[in-house]
Amino acid sequence: MTTATGQRTFDSLDPATGAVVGTHPIQDAAAVRAAVAEAGIAAAWWAGLDRAERRRRLLDYKAVLTRDLTRIARLVHEETGKPEADATLEVVLAITHLDWAARNAHKVLGMRRVSPGLVGANLAATLEYLPLGVVGVIGPWNYPVFTPMGSIAYALAAGNAVVFKPSELTPGVGVLLATLFTEAVPERQVFQTITGLGETGAALAGDPGVAKIAFTGSTATAKRVMAACATNLTPLVAECGGKDALIVDADADLPAAADAALWGALSNAGQTCVGVERIYVVDAVYDAFMKELTDRAGQVRAGRDYGPITMPAQLDIIRRHIDDAVAGGRAVLGGTDSVRAPFVDPVIVEDVPEDSSAVREETFGPTVTVKRVADVEEALEKTNATAYGLAGTVFSGNTRRALELARRMRGGMTAINSIISFASIPALPFGGVGDSGFGRIHGADGLREFARPKAVSRQR
Ligand code: NAP
Repeated sequence: MTTATGQRTFDSLDPATGAVVGTHPIQDAAAVRAAVAEAGIAAAWWAGLDRAERRRRLLDYKAVLTRDLTRIARLVHEETGKPEADATLEVVLAITHLDWAARNAHKVLGMRRVSPGLVGANLAATLEYLPLGVVGVIGPWNYPVFTPMGSIAYALAAGNAVVFKPSELTPGVGVLLATLFTEAVPERQVFQTITGLGETGAALAGDPGVAKIAFTGSTATAKRVMAACATNLTPLVAECGGKDALIVDADADLPAAADAALWGALSNAGQTCVGVERIYVVDAVYDAFMKELTDRAGQVRAGRDYGPITMPAQLDIIRRHIDDAVAGGRAVLGGTDSVRAPFVDPVIVEDVPEDSSAVREETFGPTVTVKRVADVEEALEKTNATAYGLAGTVFSGNTRRALELARRMRGGMTAINSIISFASIPALPFGGVGDSGFGRIHGADGLREFARPKAVSRQR
């Protein structure tokens, strides 16, 4: 739409009902340039505050987000369709990260003395991590608070200003996060949100005033963002998709493994970068595990236990993957008719060929493939045979073996006898390898991702 003043706008919709949730401007390259210029001024001011003052302001922001938890969660629910309880959990997790980043920035980034070593015995050496300037954050729609906050909080705590471009599906939440920030930091535009479609994100990535881009989204878009960043040699941290696997060992606690598999595959309707999309089960316990899994999954229904597919175009991918899986394997629960747009009921297909799209590509839906394997070595080999490499899960009664598998599992994070638990621990870095991206958010690595080391040596 175009308003009387010539401003192009777009609507965000409730994916379950199609109702308009909000109308937002499509900010063009000139508007993005202006926002980045404003952020540049704010960045100098914010970087000039001492670390204790920045920490205090970020903890004030935490208090504002905590106060408005219900309001934020309701908007997440409206824009994504996910149940309000899930939306609340997402916001709580985001606040946990904000708290960690605020409290630990000084410890991780502050100046420290470094041993000068033998050759430099007559020197004094210090290392400090300084802000970069303006960080551009481009976020997805599936966790529209938790995911971008994993970059925003750490970039702000490291002393940068942030310009945030939320997904076109969840602009309202993005705007609200920045609006609430002004209660804690009213003086300058330290954290702004710009709205629009992919072109707005591309303008942000290509703006010479941006010191770093933190992108979270699909692998295909990451490549476009990287190309835009190349114009100014702007560094990038890219958090992309995944095809995570869960391995069930012969001595695993099967009910616990089935609970975890189900939650990993179905929560947020499977629209989770670290969701469980493949399961490899050791032959000795395959039948027993499948009974546990299907008994549970049979009770779950889309629209009651989880929400709709947020992005309508994703339904075509989900449908194609289900078709491919069912054509090559055996449907154990659901099938093609599980897609009742915008909802998709749980789908479990076993013995799907490893070269099927359902095993190779990210589905981003409530579907999972299960395969019988001879032992955990075969499970690991198949788990690692993917272009992605984000996270994974091992269920085993043998801690030593589970830890060894975790080390050898492709990707940045592994959960043992739990599911996706690493994301709730702010001190742990989060990120992938291969098509899942590069760089790390969260934890000390996440703080350093948004800072530059400054090394100083001084003659004594
Ligand atoms: P997407 O389509 O790749 O979009 C991500 C963001 O990039 C959106 O804000 C999008 O804006 C913007 N964008 C699109 N084209 C652009 C361009 N040419 N230049 C700059 N920005 C551009 O991803 P999505 O569908 O929102 O999210 C789902 C994907 O995110 C899945 O693959 C999922 O696995 C991944 N994800 C990864 C993580 C992780 O931490 N690894 C976490 C969550 C999600 P518009 O919406 O306006 O087009």
